[in-house]
Amino acid sequence: MVDILSFKVPTPYPVGPVNLYLIRAGDVNVLVDTGPNTPEARQSLEKNFQNLGLSIEDMQFIIVTHAHQDHMGLAGWIKEQSGARICTHVRNMYWLTDYKGEWERQRNYFFNFWKKNGVPDEIIQKMNIYWNFFKEHSISTSVDCYVEKDSLFMVGTKEIEIIYTPGHATGHISLKVEDRFISGDHLLLDITSNPVIEPPLPEESERPMSLPMYIESLERTLEIKGIEEVYPGHGEPFINYKKVITTRIKHYMNRKKTVYKAMKSKPMTLYEICKSIFPDLPDNQRFLALSETQGHLDLLLVEGKVSIEEKDGIMYYVKQ
Ligand SMILES: [Zn+2]
Repeated sequence: MVDILSFKVPTPYPVGPVNLYLIRAGDVNVLVDTGPNTPEARQSLEKNFQNLGLSIEDMQFIIVTHAHQDHMGLAGWIKEQSGARICTHVRNMYWLTDYKGEWERQRNYFFNFWKKNGVPDEIIQKMNIYWNFFKEHSISTSVDCYVEKDSLFMVGTKEIEIIYTPGHATGHISLKVEDRFISGDHLLLDITSNPVIEPPLPEESERPMSLPMYIESLERTLEIKGIEEVYPGHGEPFINYKKVITTRIKHYMNRKKTVYKAMKSKPMTLYEICKSIFPDLPDNQRFLALSETQGHLDLLLVEGKVSIEEKDGIMYYVKQ
């Protein structure tokens, strides 16, 4: 059996610490995810390795499950010391190889996106403060191998199955190692993964629909055979993952109904719909609430239950 060790690294986010996994097959070490680029996370990583009788230089591979700062932030720092080869999904390329550029591109995209969706200027400014908070939490690095779809990653004679599970992030991958499933943020036990909206890649024109993608990935995960235990990106490992998945899908179906009910007969903007569902929100939760509402509108758009009308540069959703 392949050894999988795990340890926690602190993050400055409400989600709490992130779990890193070290897959050891013979003398090959594969680190899954890295923690954010903060002094606390760097110290914790060094200490965790020491406790295992290892050092950062002993890493040969880093697999990044998705391009969120708590999962990718230290990839470049670890690579500098160890020469480890970095592997991830191709949709994470810009965040990993041009972090500041992508940070800025997305900030500009969202500025226009929120404006078009009826969000008042003062709220956009407040969300920008939160965006700034992430600015130093990762660094640019080079990536050695990209996957596009489900792939096999060989470590000596051992197989790591890379499974494309987009939704929480559109470049999200999960790993199946024998009977264990390293799920990143695709499957968490106590927290509902937020399928955060993302801009299209620079070479794309349409925004990917994160929530419809996520529900499809959840349904696909139910079909995977031979999973005994799930090792998540946050929280403790769990075995009742099928129940977790069906509960999640039910939750989203109920929320979708709530969003539909919140819509009046007149055209409404994303902001107006979000506000009627979440009237009082702390500033640091606005992005997630708008993102979630957009996700449900995307589901309703796919089902043909709502349509979009544009007037004076503002998008309005209309019930069909
Ligand atoms: Zn994440």
